[in-house]
Amino acid sequence: MNIHEYQAKEIFKKYNVPTPNGYIAFSEEEAVQNAQKLGGNIWVVKAQIHAGGRGLGGGVKLARSLAEVRTLASEILGMTLVTHQTGSAGKLVHKVYIEEGVDIADELYLGIALDRAKEMPVIIASREGGMEIEKVAHTSPDKIIKIAIDPFIGFQPYHGRELAFGLGLAKEEMSSFIQFASNLYKAYIEKDAELIEINPLVKTKSGNFVALDGKIGFDDNALFRHPEIEAMRDLTEENLAEREASQHGLSYVKLDGNVGCMVNGAGLAMGTMDTINHLGGTPANFLDVGGSANAQTVATGFKIILKDHNVKSIFVNIFGGIVRCDRIANGILEATKLVNVDVPVIVRLDGTNAVEAAEILKNANIKNIIIATDLNDGAKKAVAAANGDIL
Ligand code: GDP
Ligand code: MN
Repeated sequence: MNIHEYQAKEIFKKYNVPTPNGYIAFSEEEAVQNAQKLGGNIWVVKAQIHAGGRGLGGGVKLARSLAEVRTLASEILGMTLVTHQTGSAGKLVHKVYIEEGVDIADELYLGIALDRAKEMPVIIASREGGMEIEKVAHTSPDKIIKIAIDPFIGFQPYHGRELAFGLGLAKEEMSSFIQFASNLYKAYIEKDAELIEINPLVKTKSGNFVALDGKIGFDDNALFRHPEIEAMRDLTEENLAEREASQHGLSYVKLDGNVGCMVNGAGLAMGTMDTINHLGGTPANFLDVGGSANAQTVATGFKIILKDHNVKSIFVNIFGGIVRCDRIANGILEATKLVNVDVPVIVRLDGTNAVEAAEILKNANIKNIIIATDLNDGAKKAVAAANGDIL
């Protein structure tokens, strides 16, 4: 689960990770009030969406008067912000964060991510803050410092010194930077985060380190331990279909292609997507209906897949192990009565009672249900149908 920058900064504050003061606003009126509350004479108006690159997209602007706060807030609120992370459709801005302006001397990068190969959190730092870290990693990997932290040892001062030396910090900057990184690591561990990213982490002209931006992603499997994080969930930022799927116990991830996939088991689902790709098609989604596929789950699966208007065919690829294929076949027929499926459905059922299943589907004689003999045949037919070929 991801949260907004302003929420990440609330967490930073609790862990003594310095950030500028700011308040969230839902209207231009509130934006101006927030600026007045903050005082000073320079403010930053920041669009709050779950995507980075807002600055380049025009979602982060400096205001030098209260009148300018009002103008910028009214421009940014309600805009559809397009960044390299939102896709071309962009994201509608519902709220802006009004923050006190900071005098920037230097922009650094600091992040913590989970390294699954090392089985440890890794702190990532770079002098090249404010830029896309992926680009820096690609063009000049030497400018990126990575330090794995054994969770049983935790963050130690020597980790901090290694980071500070790597960043080329001056002697008198060391201790406040090490405290900053140590506090951030504590937040990462205690909140069961998967990723924390501060880009930029700025050195102010008065010599302090401040998190100017903040992004946190949490481990969904640990959310039950953190009701205060769960309460930060912003449903308007999440994909509707993905949400509905998870409420029904289905794992669904929307993708950009046009071949809908309904599969049992995550491994088979990935194999199915690979096969579709291999045959020149593009999967519209990942969908694992789980081990207990029945008429109800299949119907829900159809409903969720068809919410995506890019879908031009659906490939049902189910292996009957414990579930029997004949029951799935009946489930599919039942489901087509519950949901109006208006695209070709290619069905490959293999395993227990596959022969009976094929018989059931054939006898039902439904025009847009096409039987496939194996995975390859099914994927081929699904790709062809998505391309508009008559099968
Ligand atoms: P992102 O583009 O979504 O990553 O949003 P950021 O929060 O990183 O803001 C983009 C850029 O705006 C930063 O890299 C800064 O250069 C600039 N910026 C943000 N806040 C301030 C501020 O208080 N003062 C100044 N001078 N620049 C700021
Ligand atoms: Mn940023």
